Amino acid sequence: MTPTTTSAQEFFARTEAAERRSADEIGQILENPGFGSKFTEHMVLIDWDKDQGWHDARVVPYGPIPLEPSAAVFHYAQEIFEGMKAYRHDDGSVWAFRPERNAERFNASARRLALPELPPSVFIDAIKELVTIDQGWVPPAGSGEMSLYLRPFMIATEEALGVRPSNKALFCVIASPAGAYFAGGLKPVSLWVSELYVRAAKGGTGAAKCGGNYAASLASQAEGIEHGCDQVVFLDAQEHTYVEELGGMNLFFVYADGRIVTPELSGTILPGITRSSLVELARERGHDVQERQFSIDEWRDGVASGEITEVFACGTAAVISPVGRLAWNGGSLEMPDTHEVTMSLRQELLDIQYGRGEDGHGWLYQLV
Ligand SMILES: *Cc1c(COP(=O)(O)O)cnc(C)c1O
Repeated sequence: MTPTTTSAQEFFARTEAAERRSADEIGQILENPGFGSKFTEHMVLIDWDKDQGWHDARVVPYGPIPLEPSAAVFHYAQEIFEGMKAYRHDDGSVWAFRPERNAERFNASARRLALPELPPSVFIDAIKELVTIDQGWVPPAGSGEMSLYLRPFMIATEEALGVRPSNKALFCVIASPAGAYFAGGLKPVSLWVSELYVRAAKGGTGAAKCGGNYAASLASQAEGIEHGCDQVVFLDAQEHTYVEELGGMNLFFVYADGRIVTPELSGTILPGITRSSLVELARERGHDVQERQFSIDEWRDGVASGEITEVFACGTAAVISPVGRLAWNGGSLEMPDTHEVTMSLRQELLDIQYGRGEDGHGWLYQLV
């Protein structure tokens, strides 16, 4: 089978769940879905091995994946993932936001983790397949900021303990309805500056979206929570001076004079699609957006002097969340209580994603 030249329609075998949930049951779940704890009725699986390449693309009922205990992923963490959302518009149609970017980034992650690349058209078709069969799980339009969160991932499945790239892999997509991230109103997050740990070093896997990065961030996350903070902000590994990002979100700094600074993509931070979209939107508004090294001192001094008026973090899950406080071993600093630029950029992006604003960049892709 040659996935690149075959349309989704003929490429994916479909096995529907024997008993589908009723619209009422799904409706009840959608009333309060939380995040990442309820899953739809199906999943997509595609197998890969060195001899056959990608094969056996299928939509099957959501459920356990049988793997041998010797499967490579359990031992050497050869795993990558993506995070994206399906948004319902007023006319009932369902859309993804820049999915080709997720497909490209997935392949960049695959190259770094020595996993096979998946043709971007197959990546997008897989999402289309899943959202089509489980479209009843995409929250209705006008539900605020609800969506169907999509989690494509790939694991190394070869049954072997030898340390080398796996000769077998599995691509999977699951979906989970997601409520508004700030259900009880927008709440600025507090950040802990980790001195004990770093997230990524030059030459490491910081720019890849891999589970290992997250595993490595959990101890620092726990450290942050011990100090009363919601999340951790990581500094560069070499000098412990430059601000990189959070465990799963990129950072922006808004100045009183309209300048906006975000740490540059130096190879150690994850190239967020929200980040790059906001850079574009802010530039179109006339902001001088600088992607450069940004030190923790510049952050502290800028807030203290009043030059920095807003700080926010961004990523697909939360879209944009204002930063309210920065804390470190020996001190803390409140961010200004202004969120004007933050909130209006947030609104502009949400309006595009939910089809309420004009999609002047062609960022939307219709799934259903
Ligand atoms: C996924 C992720 C982001 C945000 O990327 P988006 O494409 O905007 O969702 C930022 N940082 C890390 C470490 C991530 O894993």
